[in-house]
Amino acid sequence: MDIAEQLQKIGQTAREEMSAADSADVLEKLRVHYLGKKGELTSILRGLKDLSREEKREVGGQANKLKTELDRIIEDRREELSSAISIDSSFDFTLPGRPRHYGHRHLVTIVMDQINGIFQRMGFEIADGPDIESDYYNFEALNFPPDHPARDEQDTFYVEGGSLLRTHTSGVQIREFEKRKPPVKIIAPGKVFRNEAVNARSYCVFHQVEGFYVDENVTFGDLKGVLEAFCYEFFQESVQLRFRPSFFPFTEPSAEVDVRCFLCNGKGCSLCKHEGWLEILGCGMIDPEVFKAVGYDSDKVTGYAFGIGVERPALLKHRVNDIRLLFENDIRFIKQFR
Ligand SMILES: [Zn+2]
Repeated sequence: MDIAEQLQKIGQTAREEMSAADSADVLEKLRVHYLGKKGELTSILRGLKDLSREEKREVGGQANKLKTELDRIIEDRREELSSAISIDSSFDFTLPGRPRHYGHRHLVTIVMDQINGIFQRMGFEIADGPDIESDYYNFEALNFPPDHPARDEQDTFYVEGGSLLRTHTSGVQIREFEKRKPPVKIIAPGKVFRNEAVNARSYCVFHQVEGFYVDENVTFGDLKGVLEAFCYEFFQESVQLRFRPSFFPFTEPSAEVDVRCFLCNGKGCSLCKHEGWLEILGCGMIDPEVFKAVGYDSDKVTGYAFGIGVERPALLKHRVNDIRLLFENDIRFIKQFR
């Protein structure tokens, strides 16, 4: 076999082997085998010195061409191997994926959004106020006298420096009245805090949606209409309501609204304290003293205010019998309400 034939044979085998190399190690071994110092092609190039000038030129040309070609094949193959994703053959691509667990809104947030939505559709704007409030906004401007029992530390959490954790979102009323002129039609949803014994009906923190409307000729009839419309939409048309006379320092006259307990159908249970009714909101006509504090003319304007607890309607609507479940964050409970 002359040298030209040898070159052709080496070239053919080398090309096939290099293209089939399945790792960088195998490729390197092939490089050494053909192009290394003692490699097959190198030996042939070394043997050129024994040939005639003419043969040297011809065979040398072919050998160099082959060397360049093999160098390029090695380089290309090396790149291919490094960019290929290594696939574990034991992996079963037909297996179903693991489901992702997405979070969702908490029941309290869902219900608060529903309440807000109903009032927004009735033309109320949403306003916000701070959780840590001053005595002025929480009590004084709302006509709570200095000796009112609600100011007692037994009912209110005080913060260093005389501030307190707001006991209702009614303070937002004052903040908004200071900024605006009537007509004012606003709801103020948020968290409130009371130093109360924790039981199935009460918790030391809960949520409230305060609403108020001030304009000329606003009547108690308007208030009743708005609250009835709310209850019929939030619960159902057949909900039974009861307006009871009550007292709040910042409204006169005042009332509380009870709904027939859904859980026991009025027969009495632990949620309704065996009364068959559950109080869900307080309301009334805004006291002229409050208007005086914010500079509104109580001869010209009247207004109503109401405060709806969020947790109790949530419990009633979803037939949950203990408010504590809403705050314990047990995922088995929470994930039932999406
Ligand atoms: Zn009941």
